Amino acid sequence: MYKPDITALLPFVGIFAAIIGAYCTTIDYRIRMKLPLVTKDCYCPSCGRRLSLFHQIPVLSWILLRGKCRYCKNPIPLRYPLIEAGFILYYCVFFLIFRNHFVICAAAWLIFLTLFLSARSQRHWAGLVRGLAIMYGYHFLFGPIIWAVCEASKIPPALP
Ligand SMILES: [Zn+2]
Repeated sequence: MYKPDITALLPFVGIFAAIIGAYCTTIDYRIRMKLPLVTKDCYCPSCGRRLSLFHQIPVLSWILLRGKCRYCKNPIPLRYPLIEAGFILYYCVFFLIFRNHFVICAAAWLIFLTLFLSARSQRHWAGLVRGLAIMYGYHFLFGPIIWAVCEASKIPPALP
């Protein structure tokens, strides 16, 4: 039987996890502060200046900025890159173990996400429900794309 190898998709899973993780670090704060969850711009919580895209690359920005806001030099909490790295690690590990069982993989990701946001939202239930709806939406949007690519890569190569 033809055994497909979809391990090559790992970088995409990593990027997806990084984006989800980064959005979770922002959304948990907005849930607690009762701020709108979907906004166009990101602001530094210390100086209020709008953050450029350079500020928002998961994990990398924190390292490149040496953990400080580019404008006001106030420290950016270490938990941001740690949470992002945690998401990348968890999503990638589950992808590697369950990459041929997409439902298990997706369930593991969503459970992790739900537990994370539930723990961070400090019982702001209305915001939590909205936050989860948005994050689940991302998974249901991108999940089928990852799945479709996985399925497509399982098609045996045509014989010459
Ligand atoms: Zn700042």
